[in-house]
Amino acid sequence: MYYPEPIAKLIDSFSRLPGIGPKTATRLAFHVLRMSEEDVVEFAKALVSVKRNLHYCSICCNITDVDPCRICQDKSRDPSVICVVQEATDLVAMERTKEYDGQYHVLQGAISPMDGIGPDDIRIAELLKRLTDDRVKELILATNPNIEGEATAMYLSRLVKPFGIKVTRIAHGLPVGGDLEYADEVTLSKALEGRREI
Ligand code: ZN
Repeated sequence: MYYPEPIAKLIDSFSRLPGIGPKTATRLAFHVLRMSEEDVVEFAKALVSVKRNLHYCSICCNITDVDPCRICQDKSRDPSVICVVQEATDLVAMERTKEYDGQYHVLQGAISPMDGIGPDDIRIAELLKRLTDDRVKELILATNPNIEGEATAMYLSRLVKPFGIKVTRIAHGLPVGGDLEYADEVTLSKALEGRREI
């Protein structure tokens, strides 16, 4: 109300982003005002491009600018293992480890009855379709170690059993450098569950 309309609109747009309150939105909008026109145009182009040029891979449901995505096209990757993750950002985290060279499946969410998100709302049907491929021997469930992620993993493991495919869950434990006394119960019980002989 106190600002001219163009900046008020920009503040409003920023404040719709997750984790951005009115104060930060105002600070960002004024920052844009001080940027060079060239930088602002680049920024605006990047925003539009992410919507126009990115699609979901028709195989793994990851975000991609080519279909199938580069990972699905990569012949050097192991076709017998599919690592199931919730989001594209989780896939990137897995790739950063450089420990995994199989396929992925991005669910684009997790089952969460509290939020009204059921199995049909995430990309489970697409995953099941892939399991009819005889080359698939193992499914690694790498959903988040929280209630929604665990529920999704449980649901998937039951669903996939009849396919005769090995289903594994990534081990969860205490963060390296963490302190036992500060760990929450879920983390601690998962750490105990995932114990191995030394
Ligand atoms: Zn793909």
